[in-house]
Amino acid sequence: MSSIRYCPVCKEYTLEEKCRVCGGNTVVKKPARFSPEDRYGSYRVSLKRMERSEGT
Ligand SMILES: [Zn+2]
Repeated sequence: MSSIRYCPVCKEYTLEEKCRVCGGNTVVKKPARFSPEDRYGSYRVSLKRMERSEGT
């Protein structure tokens, strides 16, 4: 099972140890038990992307 990693600079989720956007080190993203805001935030981001791809 591969762990989800996260770039704190770009605020992007990735599976790579190095961020493909900024080249920085990513951190392992643990289950967001203590940060419901973060989960909610990424949920909103994916919703936004869906809206845009459907709209055009
Ligand atoms: Zn990055």
